[in-house]
Amino acid sequence: MQVREQIYIGGEWVDPAGSDTIDVVSAHSEEVIGRVPDATPADVDRAVAAARHAFDHGPWPHLDPAERAAGIARLSAAIQARAQDIADTISQENGSPKQWSIMGQVFSATMVLDTYAGIAPGYQWVDDRTGALGTPVRVRRAPVGVAAGIIPWNVPLFIAALKMGPALAAGCPIVLKPAPETPLDGYLLADAVHEADLPPGVVNIVAAGRETGEHLVRHPGIDKVSFTGSTAVGRHIGAICGEHLKRCTLELGGKSAAIVLDDWQIDDAALGNLVMSGLMNNGQVCGAQSRILVSRRRHDELVDALAAAVGALKTGDPLEDDTVIGPLVARRQQERVQGFLDAGRSAGARAVVGGGIPEHLETGWYVEPTVFVDVTNDMPIAREEIFGPVLSVIAYDDEAEAVAIANDSDYGLCGSVWTSDAEHGAAVAARVRTGVVAINSAMILDFNAPFGGFKASGIGRELGPEGIAPYTEYQSIILPAG
Ligand code: NAP
Ligand code: MG
Repeated sequence: MQVREQIYIGGEWVDPAGSDTIDVVSAHSEEVIGRVPDATPADVDRAVAAARHAFDHGPWPHLDPAERAAGIARLSAAIQARAQDIADTISQENGSPKQWSIMGQVFSATMVLDTYAGIAPGYQWVDDRTGALGTPVRVRRAPVGVAAGIIPWNVPLFIAALKMGPALAAGCPIVLKPAPETPLDGYLLADAVHEADLPPGVVNIVAAGRETGEHLVRHPGIDKVSFTGSTAVGRHIGAICGEHLKRCTLELGGKSAAIVLDDWQIDDAALGNLVMSGLMNNGQVCGAQSRILVSRRRHDELVDALAAAVGALKTGDPLEDDTVIGPLVARRQQERVQGFLDAGRSAGARAVVGGGIPEHLETGWYVEPTVFVDVTNDMPIAREEIFGPVLSVIAYDDEAEAVAIANDSDYGLCGSVWTSDAEHGAAVAARVRTGVVAINSAMILDFNAPFGGFKASGIGRELGPEGIAPYTEYQSIILPAG
């Protein structure tokens, strides 16, 4: 049982203003595994004040970028020092299988921080150029101010790093609001922040529910909001930011398509990648390739291979080394996914493997890894983000139809093309209206390249040097001649 009684604000552990607590429940055992304070608006006020002080009076925004980079690297090292502890904590909180969580939940986060520690010193913070009248103009990238990071439960530390890396690189203090399902790893992150000895108030962490989260978004001391989560909440937060003219990045849901071309050679390794591109983290990934598009010519061959591969995946305790599919984060998520299984069947789709709750797992919020066939792109299972271990195979006639099906979605986050001709795959990818497309790879993003959505998958980009821009404002300084 991990019990924390204080909140990390202004570089120290402080008592919460209220007395309510959040119970953290294991997705596998359904037992309470931790308890933390449920932060209130008064705690948020205090966290924002600390971050404001760090911005308005602290050294952080004015440090040399190389010094900020050193601080980010210290934070990465402090997280690495507790990597297995964090990975196992997240596995218990949200069901992420141990064999995936050490890389997917923890080292992915430290690699993002290391990436920004690497980018910050050489980033073009200042561009001295010649103005229209021949006189000098200095174009700066000034820090946007104090940032708020609203974090979902599926990859909590990684998404916190997606916010902290570029914010800290740009000179912006941040207030992080972890989700109530996954506050414990946020506490381990706070321990790492403290050990990294960043100036007080540069990183503040307030785990809380919806009302307190919205108070943070609306807080006049917050200049920029970076939100990752559902499209429904993203629309709401975007509307608030619009009203207040706060800068805003929205990283939302997806319904990504894996386009299998006719020349793709199915072998075990390649098939394993295709399966994991849809089922990593139990399908609880915004970029999950949950629609698999295959031509009618190769349909049956691929379905047989998928059924065998997915049917063989070990489902069970996420802390066991050989588990590939763990439980979902919460009972409501298990029920939601069951609702989609029913909706698939009533629309005429057929589960060739899975389709229910695993019989051998009575406790824990498990859903069998499932492959639906006879799916058409108008069915709810093909249109809505399921956020569970459910793949839908959709048949196409030719490549043009495959691209059209991939693009016939409200979302536009990720996608993939599976082919033996990488350049042809890249040409197909260029016709897909999503922020990232991978060729023959389960990767849904690359740390050195921008990540984010077209359409209802969001606004703005994270990662790569491009990920710094949303934490900056251009400032033009018109200099005198000579
Ligand atoms: P969510 O409701 O969008 O919540 C994400 C984060 O936003 C949580 O920290 C949440 O806290 C907070 N939040 C919710 N309403 C808020 C508001 N009005 N103001 C400020 N903060 C607010 O996502 P979820 O409940 O975790 O999952 C629901 C669905 O979202 C999933 O089924 C999945 O489809 C999608 N999802 C997508 C991603 C992604 O990476 N794209 C990640 C996670 C989930 P509370 O939980 O306390 O409301
Ligand atoms: Mg929630």
